[in-house]
Amino acid sequence: MTKKALAIELSRLRVFEHPKTNLEQYPTDSEIAAEILWNAYMKGDIKGKVIADLGAGTGILGMGALLLGAKRVIFEDIDPDALKVARENKALIEQENSVRFDADFQAGDVIEFDEDVDIVIMNPPFGAQNTKADTMFLEKAMQAADVIYTFHKASTKEYINSYAASNGYETTDYWEFDWPLKNTMAHHTKRIERIKVGGWRLEKKGALED
Ligand code: SAH
Repeated sequence: MTKKALAIELSRLRVFEHPKTNLEQYPTDSEIAAEILWNAYMKGDIKGKVIADLGAGTGILGMGALLLGAKRVIFEDIDPDALKVARENKALIEQENSVRFDADFQAGDVIEFDEDVDIVIMNPPFGAQNTKADTMFLEKAMQAADVIYTFHKASTKEYINSYAASNGYETTDYWEFDWPLKNTMAHHTKRIERIKVGGWRLEKKGALED
């Protein structure tokens, strides 16, 4: 598997049929997903790991992790319709690659998520509809794992860094993307609007020393 092959494979997955504005259902672009997953893979954060994809939606991030050798992925989302598509996406990549992946689909509010995993990889709501959403996802991710990959608006960079630091996590890596917001929602006018989005790798301080 190469980064390019991963991006192509991920571009063929299905996305939200009727995106729900109140849940901020914007899928991660396949090139950007491949980029962050590839970086995670090179850092040894994917192969053989148990990974949670919180707010998984149609599952692009978790599917990429499975394709790169994750041991098991938990797909968590509040919307059962999205998880139904995620299940179909999993069946599709299994069929195309003649493999069986170990995956679990959990429908429910992320606030109730209660598992210990090696790594969280997530593209949560950016907080446009519910301003507390990004912090709530981060809080849950920190309860679940020592290493977190997460996307947020680049404009919140200082806030995310200091929120992480005050919870004992440091930003070990930061990447910035021109993020396409596809015009799937009624309140958008331009066909593709781009916003600056950051990708963070957060690590619990001292976690790798024990
Ligand atoms: N991670 C996916 C989807 C991103 S959109 C991707 O990268 O493509 C954000 C997702 O968060 C949506 O699927 C939405 O249903 C989910 N979500 C929003 N609020 C949630 C909550 N409180 N608990 C769990 N999932 C939630």
